[in-house]
Amino acid sequence: MGGSAADLVFVNGAVYTVDAARSWAQAMAVREGRIAAVGTDAAIRPSIDARTEVIDLAGRMLVPGFQDAHVHPVYAGIDMLQCDLHDLTTKDEYLAAIAAYAGANPDATWILGGGWSMEVFPRGCPAKQDLDAIVPERPVFLPNRDGHSAWVNSKALELAGVTAETLDPADGRIERTADGEPFGTMHEGAQRFMTDLIPPSTPDELYAGLMKGQAYLHALGITGWQDAIVQAGGGAWGDSLSTYLTAAEKGELTARVVGALWWDRLRGLEQIDELVALRDRGAAGRFAATSVKIMQDGVCENFTGAVLDPYLGADGTPTENRGISFVDPDVLNEAVTRLDALGFQVHFHALADRAVREALDAIEAARRTNGMSDTRPHLAHIQIVHPDDIPRFRQLGAIANAQPLWAAHENQMDELTIPFLGEPRWTWQYPFASLVRAGASLAMGSDWSVSSPDPLEEIHVAVNRVMPPDYPYSADRDRVFLPDERLDMGTAMAGFTIGSAYVNHLEAETGSIEVGKRADLAVLDRNVFAHPSEEIANASCLMTFVEGERVFAAPDA
Ligand SMILES: [Zn+2]
Repeated sequence: MGGSAADLVFVNGAVYTVDAARSWAQAMAVREGRIAAVGTDAAIRPSIDARTEVIDLAGRMLVPGFQDAHVHPVYAGIDMLQCDLHDLTTKDEYLAAIAAYAGANPDATWILGGGWSMEVFPRGCPAKQDLDAIVPERPVFLPNRDGHSAWVNSKALELAGVTAETLDPADGRIERTADGEPFGTMHEGAQRFMTDLIPPSTPDELYAGLMKGQAYLHALGITGWQDAIVQAGGGAWGDSLSTYLTAAEKGELTARVVGALWWDRLRGLEQIDELVALRDRGAAGRFAATSVKIMQDGVCENFTGAVLDPYLGADGTPTENRGISFVDPDVLNEAVTRLDALGFQVHFHALADRAVREALDAIEAARRTNGMSDTRPHLAHIQIVHPDDIPRFRQLGAIANAQPLWAAHENQMDELTIPFLGEPRWTWQYPFASLVRAGASLAMGSDWSVSSPDPLEEIHVAVNRVMPPDYPYSADRDRVFLPDERLDMGTAMAGFTIGSAYVNHLEAETGSIEVGKRADLAVLDRNVFAHPSEEIANASCLMTFVEGERVFAAPDA
């Protein structure tokens, strides 16, 4: 075969190609980083010569590398390197870990990290006294898993000057005791009282975070993603744009990444020129900063998600609170129209029904002015979608960016969300199958470090609408969450591969196993289609490849 021999061949496997016909194959060949052939063992074997690496899949599964359409790997990686509470499940475990971290890091001026779960605390809110008892002298600032609320101690409140007299900011809320004293939980924009004081992560910390995050995602079969918050300059999260560019220039960014540049909601349209300049600077290797992230609302658990009708109170009657639209809808329409005209994709955080409607209205305004374009705006989170808005995704070319792990009965849903939404609104949550039936394009992401970034756990919930067996928080596995919204396995797999590739404008190059595409691949330990759907999350990734280069191998693979 000479020059046409393959560099790498997989044989004897269950190759799920995720091509348009969702076809299966047995074997595939890679040459010079691209997929050279897909077919039966007999068809592929002639491309093997003495220098070809041959991997016998022995019936295991080969899939396109997973792609995560909404993830925060730099900050999640930093969390893993700081006081990391993600894998703990009780208040006592949290306090022991915080005390141990503080003891092990006597030079840290702030105790940082995070990842606690709201369901561990009454009303989802932890108190300052618990932290004061273990770290009285240094400020503590620990965001929860979703980053929308932070647990702080008295020292942090004192340094920030937050007292009973301090007013809530427009985009956030200070949790208070009955007499108005700060309780120790800061919601949404109220976290700025502290984040304005915390030194941003250093370039070295950001780089270490990205490398840690990238390695972790590769180990889960992920070969590409959209980073949902990329910032430049001295913002609260540090300059992660430079982090990606440095990694790309050093050849250490093995993943394919689109960065979503952060829209500063405290400023207006004047920032668009800066975003254009950042996009011009922000392209190197496998990285491009071609998206803009607009966070339109908060989350339901702390009543900052923007709802059309008010939240209910604990007694089941309507309150006055409709959550927060972070960007005024008129400004949003103008911003999205101008960004779209400049060729930017807009990546919305649109969680509750009013925010979803405002995002769709803004896309509609852009389409009306600019015509249909190929900018592929997408709405992440889509927790509550009013039924009237479901068909608009297809009509407007707006992509549904689903975080399926949240679509299950677990305590945060059953105790902190459903009672405050009421009938019928709670049944409008995570309507993934309705969106697909209405012709919407579907992408998927984890929002890690908010949730596990394991695509197999995400797909497990997308298919079953029940939490995976080893999910660390209490969950009700006897009740399927809105069963009509379950997806079939192929649709869920496509969401995490070709669907997310489409969001990143990479579907011609990646996202399926087809001749000519980049050989971005994952080997799973079993064919998940051949096992009961209740076992999807038990599967694991054995090997991950980017352009035919191995970027992860399990120890026993
Ligand atoms: Zn996010």
